[in-house]
Amino acid sequence: MSHFFLYGNQHGFAMSAKNNIFVVQPSLPPLKEFVLYLEKIWDNKILTNGGPFHQQLEKALCEYLGVKHIALFPNGTIALMVALQALQITGEVITTPYSFVATTHSLLWSGISPVFVDIDPHTLNLDPSKIETAITPRTTAIMPVHCYGYPCDTKAIQEIATKYNLRVIYDAAHAFGVNDNQGSILNHGDLSVLSFHATKVFHTFEGGAIVCPDATVKQRIDYLKNFGIVDEVTVVASGINGKMSEINAAFGALQLQYMDEHLMRRKEIDAFYRSELSGLRGIQCLGAGEGTSANYSYFPILVQPEYPLSRDALYQKLKDHGIYARRYFYPLISDFPMYRGLPSAQRCNLPVATDAAAKVLCLPLYSALSPDDEKRITNVITEM
Ligand SMILES: *Cc1c(COP(=O)(O)O)cnc(C)c1O
Repeated sequence: MSHFFLYGNQHGFAMSAKNNIFVVQPSLPPLKEFVLYLEKIWDNKILTNGGPFHQQLEKALCEYLGVKHIALFPNGTIALMVALQALQITGEVITTPYSFVATTHSLLWSGISPVFVDIDPHTLNLDPSKIETAITPRTTAIMPVHCYGYPCDTKAIQEIATKYNLRVIYDAAHAFGVNDNQGSILNHGDLSVLSFHATKVFHTFEGGAIVCPDATVKQRIDYLKNFGIVDEVTVVASGINGKMSEINAAFGALQLQYMDEHLMRRKEIDAFYRSELSGLRGIQCLGAGEGTSANYSYFPILVQPEYPLSRDALYQKLKDHGIYARRYFYPLISDFPMYRGLPSAQRCNLPVATDAAAKVLCLPLYSALSPDDEKRITNVITEM
């Protein structure tokens, strides 16, 4: 309730609801510019089904990201489900418990059994050294997540996949625009899936995409997202409705033009947090490894026992100051009721993920965050 009323913080300043800082504020281009895009839709009256903005955005994203093919979707979750269908994944899939629930839900919705494997303590991504012991005769694929946009160990994961003849579908919902020394990290594995949800670094209100290196697979994905329809009299698969509308695609085409501007501001905020917090006892800032570009999509910190407050006490203290940080990712997916009965969901199987979920806090990060806000946030964390 507190954020609806004026109240005093410890310095006696009155704070109102409009001073609240949330973990993300979606970026919006100037409305006047979007209206021009909408006028085009009103003129040509093509509202969906791979219209001109849909085609334009697919092409623009391929160029911007440096990938071969991209298929747009109404959200990232449907894109994950279609990716599984496109590669005809069945049986068991090895995945991480340290993610947003949609990662694992996409498996369950597809009749696949998730098998949780612990994460690496440095990257908080799937730990390749723990994958092999989780492989059974039913295993068909690995679904890792580039958590916070920090790349997985793609090389080690591919080696295991090749050795055991497994497919790799990356949940790359956080990894828009991230490159390693070979180019886009979206080119690793068989497929990569993006989310363009309003909270993501690039968004189309709701939206998602599958990145695909192979033209034949891209064609199959395009059939699957349109009910399996090939032409008026031909249906080749039991597809679904996974089409992005022209309004969302138009918004994406416009939004993409502002991407570099947003990234520049995000980079500054990231640098500010790092300089203010990195020397602080008990606060560990996470980051992408060497040789990787960042998209500054999240700013996760781990609150270690040396810090005077527990993670939850710091979370609450920030809240009391009108700052809404988020515990991404807590609880672990493996702790939710539909998963916790699985043998691989037992906490003793997932000690690193369990520890990270108890320590992590994601600080507010978005291009409209002002320097005053940044300072307000780090002050709450540094002052005792
Ligand atoms: C946001 C997100 C998704 C789901 O994307 P939607 O577009 O919201 O369906 C999947 N996985 C991860 C890791 C996410 O953060």
